[in-house]
Amino acid sequence: MTDLHRLSIRELSEGLAGAKFSSRELTEHYLKRIAKIDAQVQSYVTVTAEQALAQADAADAAIKAGNATSLTGVPIAHKDIFCTQGIKTTAGSKMLDNFISPYDATIVAKGKAAGLVTLGKVNMDEFAMGSTSESSYFGATKNPWALDHVPGGSSGGSAAAVAADLAPFSTGTDTGGSIRQPASFCGLTGLKPTYGRVSRFGMIAYASSLDQGGPIARSAEDCAYLMNVMAGHDAKDSTSVNKDVDDYVANLNGTSVKGLRIGIPKQYFNVHGLDADVKARVEESLKKLEEMGATLVEIDLNMTEAYVPTYYLIAPAEASSNLSRFDGVRYGYRCEDPKDIMDLYKRSRSEGFGKEVQQRILIGTYALSAGYYDAYYVKAQKVRRLIQQDFLKAFENVDVIAAPSAPTTAYRIGANLSPVEMYLGDIYTIAVNLAGLPAINAPVGFDKDNLPVGLQLIGNYWSESQLLSVVHQYQQATDWHTKRAAIAEENA
Ligand code: GLN
Repeated sequence: MTDLHRLSIRELSEGLAGAKFSSRELTEHYLKRIAKIDAQVQSYVTVTAEQALAQADAADAAIKAGNATSLTGVPIAHKDIFCTQGIKTTAGSKMLDNFISPYDATIVAKGKAAGLVTLGKVNMDEFAMGSTSESSYFGATKNPWALDHVPGGSSGGSAAAVAADLAPFSTGTDTGGSIRQPASFCGLTGLKPTYGRVSRFGMIAYASSLDQGGPIARSAEDCAYLMNVMAGHDAKDSTSVNKDVDDYVANLNGTSVKGLRIGIPKQYFNVHGLDADVKARVEESLKKLEEMGATLVEIDLNMTEAYVPTYYLIAPAEASSNLSRFDGVRYGYRCEDPKDIMDLYKRSRSEGFGKEVQQRILIGTYALSAGYYDAYYVKAQKVRRLIQQDFLKAFENVDVIAAPSAPTTAYRIGANLSPVEMYLGDIYTIAVNLAGLPAINAPVGFDKDNLPVGLQLIGNYWSESQLLSVVHQYQQATDWHTKRAAIAEENA
């Protein structure tokens, strides 16, 4: 079969179970595509062909022996922020260019236990700080829809790999939008789960109180399959919550759009810099949901203006603390010929970290320093609580909240936005992380340059099933999620 990359996860699952094709055939098919097409997209940092084929053979044996899960033999790409035993884990940084983890992240281990085949590790902004994937030490990943544009970030490699059909689905992480925004820029579905739903063990920390892993895939249905693997309590992550996990696949039709109350935040649709095409596509998608029986309810989210400053204090503050472990001593990059211990620290860190990361370490350290701690960090934490309360109040009256995922479509590579311009692009995603809520991006059309536009639906805590289900209903009634970039149509 030459079009295995066009099959959905359910079709792959059924095809493998029904012996229509083997995991080896499927894995070889993807490896061939990566070898041929990824030179243009540059989504992979590491391709693990040999290991993938061994996993595929083991999967085929398990299927024959009747020991398969619904995902046994299905390939996946992991964001290079998740530790993989015996395989390089870089977090997009020179600092970790030589880091081979001695253990697997929990979500990687769970994937292996479910029989998933790891194709490799995909590119990202350095330490997940960014919105374009350009800050990666390994160079910029390209947007499959327009190769001179960015795929978004920080999970840009995860999104680009799926959009170019170089992996059927992938893992990402979202600290302030890094699953939803690249999914939006690449015309994909991506879910950021409730904080604590997915284990952070073995996921290199950026801002620990905001970080959350989740799936990037073509459809809500595909995301549901991966959520069934990723979600759940993990004793190795103290912030992981011990709460029953839904069967996200079984629940795909569990929520009816009929009668669904969708909150439309007044403040969100007048944001400076909201692109006219993005606004129009998002409004059209809401109209469609209305036709399907939803009720649109105008709501107030009064704290909108505080999102960017609050996030850009808390995230760098936590990052400055988390990244202090990269000191050139125990692992990671170490400078040549250090004169003394201070020289070792200083040069290892200034040579090992890129510019954006250094900037954030400086801002975060400043915000946490004695004398400024109360004025910046503590104040930001208080505002964070107000932002959360704003959402909770809204959820008294609505089931989900709608917003664009990003004010624009994908930027041009090298657009060189100032940090402030870049940070303002996160306006629609970061509050969700500050509040710890789940949210999903769904593709809803294209702008005048044929770049994808995404709708974001934000849910109340633990409403992943509901979000996936609503998007699934929408995707049953529309076909935006089936559109493919020209490069994805290329055969290997
Ligand atoms: N763009 C945001 C930032 O740079 C979000 C990144 C993320 O979610 N990892 O912090």
